[in-house]
Amino acid sequence: MSREDIVFEIATELGFDLCGIAPLAPPPAAARFEAWLAAGRHAGMSWLERDRERLVDPRRVLPEGGSIVVLGLAHARAAVELPGGGRVARYAAGRDYHNIGNQRLRRFARRLAAAGLGGRNRRIVDAGPLLERSHAARAGLGFESKAANLLHPRFGPWFFLMEILVPHELEPTREPPAGSCGTCTACLEACPTAAIVEPGVVDARRCLSYATIEHAGHADPLLREQAGPWAFGCDVCSEVCPWGARAPDLAARFGTHRAVAEGGLVAWLEAGPRFEADFAGSPLDRPGRAGVARNAAIALAAAPSDRGRVALLRALSFDPAAEVREAAGWALARAHAADAGVRTALAGAAASEPEETARGLLARWADEAGAGGMSSGLDAAGGASNP
Ligand code: SF4
Ligand code: SF4
Repeated sequence: MSREDIVFEIATELGFDLCGIAPLAPPPAAARFEAWLAAGRHAGMSWLERDRERLVDPRRVLPEGGSIVVLGLAHARAAVELPGGGRVARYAAGRDYHNIGNQRLRRFARRLAAAGLGGRNRRIVDAGPLLERSHAARAGLGFESKAANLLHPRFGPWFFLMEILVPHELEPTREPPAGSCGTCTACLEACPTAAIVEPGVVDARRCLSYATIEHAGHADPLLREQAGPWAFGCDVCSEVCPWGARAPDLAARFGTHRAVAEGGLVAWLEAGPRFEADFAGSPLDRPGRAGVARNAAIALAAAPSDRGRVALLRALSFDPAAEVREAAGWALARAHAADAGVRTALAGAAASEPEETARGLLARWADEAGAGGMSSGLDAAGGASNP
């Protein structure tokens, strides 16, 4: 059996759906990535700039040289909606794929060593210094699409990528092209924020996935208008894609985390000190307590309810994070401005908010809710009304 066949056999035995081998060399997308960075399209992801040299040249990650074994683990499932409304990206609904991927890659490395392919390696799941889609395309796992993701004929965009860099020169996988977008432009037309600025180029500054997962602090006032039900990530460009429409349903593979099955936007907004326990073992904890609560507040504007209104009023007055108080004010102004108590609370919150940015934005939301003239009559130290 060849060394390459050993690699493929281990991948199959460990349950990976896809496996290919790419050379440990700068990938075809290196120049495109540099241009994307230079245009500032990475938004606040400053680590991409810091890691630029390693990202464009994987030989800096594993100086011994060798090959990149690229692996795919499919996760297709039906659309995920939280109880009471609010949506999360499908990939994040189950158990944390980082944990699962890291465990499998460790076992992969042990199996390689037992087969005589040991030595120092580097394992990467999701957040690593590698332009993984480009290496994966080169290794035959799919093709890079106009939505800047990787599409596979069977799984479409619904699979995780992970890699193990090994110090062995293996024969790269040579597959025929897996397909192409052709004349389709469905994702460019469907993106709610026009974040796909040209085929294959997503501007993270406009993308809801970045806005709801990586961006900390106050939500962009324009983007939140387009967020609709999305409380974590966004699947719109994948959901409209014809590739993957017939992908097998693998929901049981990662399960459904209790923060999704039993939670809901109000529970997310009110998690407080329970946050770590409620979200343990889920990739949904990535934005942190304040980020999750901020996103939940914004998504509650698209799923108004009495329970939501009460939770938003409580957050407006008592949440410890300024971006959550402010997002709660925005959602109240959008969804509950007809309520006189809400307008009074907004005016009071705008008058008493200690953080400067939140104070300015809350004054704007209070104005938009028709409560602009009310703040002067309230005790600035007293703050918003207690729900
Ligand atoms: S994830 Fe959503 S916002 Fe981002 S490019 Fe796709 S459709 Fe647009
Ligand atoms: S929706 Fe169409 S253009 Fe967009 S990635 Fe899918 S096939 Fe390509």
